[in-house]
Amino acid sequence: MVNLRDTFPVMLTFDVDGESLWLNRDPQNAERPVALSQGRYGPLTGVPKITRLLARYGIQATFFVPGWIAEQYPDMVKALVAEGHEVGHHGYRHEWLTRIEPAQEEPILIKGLEALEKTAGVQALGYRAPAWELTPRTLGLLERHGFVYSSNMMDTDAPYRHRIDGRPSRLVELPVAWTLDDSSMYLYSLQIPGSKLMANEEVLSMWCGEFDGLYADGGSCVLTCHPQLTGRSYRLAALERFVQHARRQPRVAFVRCIDAAEHFQAAL
Ligand code: ZN
Repeated sequence: MVNLRDTFPVMLTFDVDGESLWLNRDPQNAERPVALSQGRYGPLTGVPKITRLLARYGIQATFFVPGWIAEQYPDMVKALVAEGHEVGHHGYRHEWLTRIEPAQEEPILIKGLEALEKTAGVQALGYRAPAWELTPRTLGLLERHGFVYSSNMMDTDAPYRHRIDGRPSRLVELPVAWTLDDSSMYLYSLQIPGSKLMANEEVLSMWCGEFDGLYADGGSCVLTCHPQLTGRSYRLAALERFVQHARRQPRVAFVRCIDAAEHFQAAL
């Protein structure tokens, strides 16, 4: 286990949605090659640019990959594992759990696990739900299938252990926030109303402001990015500036989610 005593863990996380984000939002996008290409930018172009940046700073990160995307881009997931990054579960075809039949939830979870095992040889220990949407059943399923942590909730600034069906569990939560996300600021499409493109300065003001507060209070900081968005050169510069900002603090440790989760599982 990575020793994180007296540190402030910062987790850079990347949801590699690829085309599955667009297909799930609207099945009609299967007939829109440009929309699909916007997604493809993530696994094809964004991930290698991001991992080169991480390598320059000696950072290992967590990539949440839908099983179907792992099957489409097996070399990408293999490379992530080879470089020491963590690969976590992100659904099979990026299904929003609140929009499927309850009986489908466990088969989708299993299908995603199997796809990551088959393509990357990894057992996913972390779960990031597509769109951060859980159901009342999800945490129990994660516990049943051997997950160590979930990274979806927004109720605290610090990691905690979940209570499941009224009893304590070992499942750790690594909390997230829309203000520490890129999709709420970068995701743009003519098909999705209400989204706009925000300038990096505005985004960094939010990311760094949240980081400063979390660092002062203790706990941890989880940044959520999407390679199809943050992989763009202009956006990658924002990620680098965030890394540089966080690195100025002496107790910061950039770690994979699983490292932080195991630390907090033992410490909490
Ligand atoms: Zn996603």
